Amino acid sequence: VISLDEARAHVLERVAPLHPSPVPLAEAHGCVLAEPVRAPEDVPPFANTAMDGYAVRALDTAGATAATPVRLPVVAEVAAGHPAERALQPGEAMRIFTGAPVPAGADAVVQVERTERLDGGTAVAIHAEVVPGTHLRGAGDDLRAGDDVFTAGELLSAAHVGVLASVGVTHPVVVPRPVVGVCSTGDELVEAPEPLRPGQIRDSNRRTLLALLDRAGVPGVDLGIVRDDEDAIAAAIERGTTRCDALVTTGGVSMGDIDLVRVVLDRLGDMRWMQIAIKPAKPFAFGVVAGTPVFGLPGNPVSSLVSFELLAGPALRRMAGRSRILPVEVPAVAAEPLRRAPDGKTHFVRVVAERDEGGRLAVRSAGGQGSHQLAAVARANALAVLPDGDGADAGHEVRLLLLAEV
Ligand code: AMP
Ligand code: MG
Repeated sequence: VISLDEARAHVLERVAPLHPSPVPLAEAHGCVLAEPVRAPEDVPPFANTAMDGYAVRALDTAGATAATPVRLPVVAEVAAGHPAERALQPGEAMRIFTGAPVPAGADAVVQVERTERLDGGTAVAIHAEVVPGTHLRGAGDDLRAGDDVFTAGELLSAAHVGVLASVGVTHPVVVPRPVVGVCSTGDELVEAPEPLRPGQIRDSNRRTLLALLDRAGVPGVDLGIVRDDEDAIAAAIERGTTRCDALVTTGGVSMGDIDLVRVVLDRLGDMRWMQIAIKPAKPFAFGVVAGTPVFGLPGNPVSSLVSFELLAGPALRRMAGRSRILPVEVPAVAAEPLRRAPDGKTHFVRVVAERDEGGRLAVRSAGGQGSHQLAAVARANALAVLPDGDGADAGHEVRLLLLAEV
């Protein structure tokens, strides 16, 4: 039996970020940038107005107040996307709308609230004095051509994607998301609408794992249910390793199994079969088959989910080039005793975490803690990490791995 840290280190040493490649910007959100980005052009590309109002020469507004307005003729309208056809002359104003290019000759904008439209819009009364630059956004105010915008390793957020669009990058070079094949193994497994015959259960793991991949922004490939049959298992593994960057299987990794998954994986690749000092998810296998990382998760539904969160998830994040790969632990307080018996293992207890009046996370058990009781995981929004011992008394601090928003 090895520690979780040792198991995780073993896995993480054997996976590496995928080879960078350009992807369409529409697919880049959530990917990690593999090359720095330099702005090829100014953002904004031209000086424009931040306000609706009137473009003027600041000098022409000298002394203007509501009581002593300055009257100027309005000689043009300038809207976003429609630059003025001529320069502004001294003593003139142009009606201007947010985002429109500032006409040559103008050096300030008087916001519309400080003006009064006169003579059907052919003139304007200016009620406030402005200084040069008022309400103008200069070319390159956001980014200048040649600026270093982003460095390699940055995770592309929605704003990153927007910035790349703003500088005209269509295909950023990123670490691609790993394509991950998922299969469930077991003779007892069926999928609705097939009726259940004696001894059969419905396959839930494949759906859970594909959903976990979806949440992680990683494309999952459904490799189906694989029977406990050597040829069927070998065919599924080979299909998965040729089509995918990584493979996740469930079932057939426990000690006492009719270990056909084990026989086949050992034949095809270099696997390590582990017993980890955690509960649930003690059995776990990892190896590389035909160059493809394979995660052998336990069949029990709660175990496969926890095993994914603790072991496969971090490895997939590393493959995707992420720098923060381990699940984030947050502090919380036990709102009721969270009991466990000493057994040499770290327990991951399904809990419901809620913020108390002070904003602290307080946790209660989510119910059935068996590794087959997936419903309690669905009710839970976190796993409380209970180190070996008797558990936590009410009021004591516990560490949480968040499964959902709290
Ligand atoms: P195994 O790891 O194959 O020994 O399976 C352990 C337990 O998990 C058994 O009770 C299986 O029936 C159950 N199990 C295995 N695979 C799945 C699955 N895909 N969906 C739901 N339960 C499963
Ligand atoms: Mg099985």
